[in-house]
Amino acid sequence: MTRAFADLRAPEIAELAPSAIAVLPIGSTEQHGPHLPLSTDFVVADSLARDAVAGFGDEHDLLLLPSLAISKSNEHAWSPGTLWLSATTLLAVLDDIARCVATTPIRKLVFLNGHGGNSALLQVAARDLRLAHGLQTFVMHPSVPPDQGGESPVAELGMGIHAGLEETSIMLHLRPDLVRLDLGVRSVPDHLASFERVRFGGAVSFGWTSDDFGTDGTLGDPTGATAERGEQRYAAMVAAAGESFAEIARFDPRPP
Ligand SMILES: [Zn+2]
Repeated sequence: MTRAFADLRAPEIAELAPSAIAVLPIGSTEQHGPHLPLSTDFVVADSLARDAVAGFGDEHDLLLLPSLAISKSNEHAWSPGTLWLSATTLLAVLDDIARCVATTPIRKLVFLNGHGGNSALLQVAARDLRLAHGLQTFVMHPSVPPDQGGESPVAELGMGIHAGLEETSIMLHLRPDLVRLDLGVRSVPDHLASFERVRFGGAVSFGWTSDDFGTDGTLGDPTGATAERGEQRYAAMVAAAGESFAEIARFDPRPP
């Protein structure tokens, strides 16, 4: 059986087991500076979801939903070409998709999110959709972003969150034809490095848009990016996704 939800025929949907897990990759279409394409987050989320479902789908009964290519990217609204949905619209879209998934035997829905700007909204959606449609919902990231407590290379001062070393390396691995590494420059707001509490991933968060920092709209340092580094990071992301799906498959918050 195919693991692509949209390639199933209607009678096959009814035959799905309640153990089936729907995976919704969420990308974005937004400026990623002079060196990466608008599609960056989409490429990463879509590729990772495909590879993880190909590798672990049979084991954990995963079904790949069609990827979302447009999401909440209004931190880049200033940059023409960015296509973004408001928070209200994206919540409504997710609610509609979850309502439809809930009509199938599937009881678990995973958002595989490639765009950090969606994270807070997806947490809200995860609980609201759990209440509204009875689905068990999960929010998964390819890797933990630096603005949510994940690691960032030293040279990026904890601020490598957009089109920096890791993201550029991964794109050099996945879609080198779309990368212009020669145009990438270090864009780290060094003047914010002394803030210990008001910072990305700090105790105090702040509303920002990517043209606030005096950079070219990126945050990070892509200059040392390599396809080899990207290949290693991507392989780690696929392996981590496999481990996450294994836990999601057996996760039940109720006591045994
Ligand atoms: Zn990105």
